[in-house]
Amino acid sequence: MSSDERRKQNALGVATDTVRRLGATQVDKPCLRHVLDRAKAIGLINDWVEVDELCEGDGEWDSATKTIFYRRGVVDGANRGNPYNRFTVWHEIGHAALGHEGRRNRSFSKTLAERFSASVKLDEREADYFAAACLIPSDRIGLNDSIMPNELKRRFGTSNTTAEIRGRELERARNTASGTLRKLPENTIDFLKEAEARGIKLTAKLPSE
Ligand SMILES: [Zn+2]
Repeated sequence: MSSDERRKQNALGVATDTVRRLGATQVDKPCLRHVLDRAKAIGLINDWVEVDELCEGDGEWDSATKTIFYRRGVVDGANRGNPYNRFTVWHEIGHAALGHEGRRNRSFSKTLAERFSASVKLDEREADYFAAACLIPSDRIGLNDSIMPNELKRRFGTSNTTAEIRGRELERARNTASGTLRKLPENTIDFLKEAEARGIKLTAKLPSE
């Protein structure tokens, strides 16, 4: 597994845990002010503040003070449904949840050495995977829910890119789940099918014949 793939898998796991801790699994588009206040309440961050100007980008994470800075308008824009603002809000929460050190901009243009540092790039990508997984959390995708990018985009208010990335990840997860179940003993599968027939909602996808 490449280090990018490893970081991605880590980001997906942390994202699932974080959206639960932040109570962001109740609705498709949770209020991000509430999410940020909850992040503060549980000590994930010390504070989040809105500022008129940021040197670079729309958000910044400062690990020394455990503070997230957003350019004024970003959080309100997110709650009005702007997909890029929603992404930025979660991206910065990602730096906090993933334990990234230093000051991290949404678009990084520090010193040249920093800008091209491999570890900064990996952190940024990890925070991006995290943001996409929080915007479209696995917990909100039922077995019969469409995972077509257009539907994900409409339902969760994301950009095309986020919807496409998550669509692929969710499809892979579904395939893995049904692959695992195929290896289950026949009587277990029969038991689950019977349960499903009685109207019990299963979280795993049963093999189709
Ligand atoms: Zn960042």
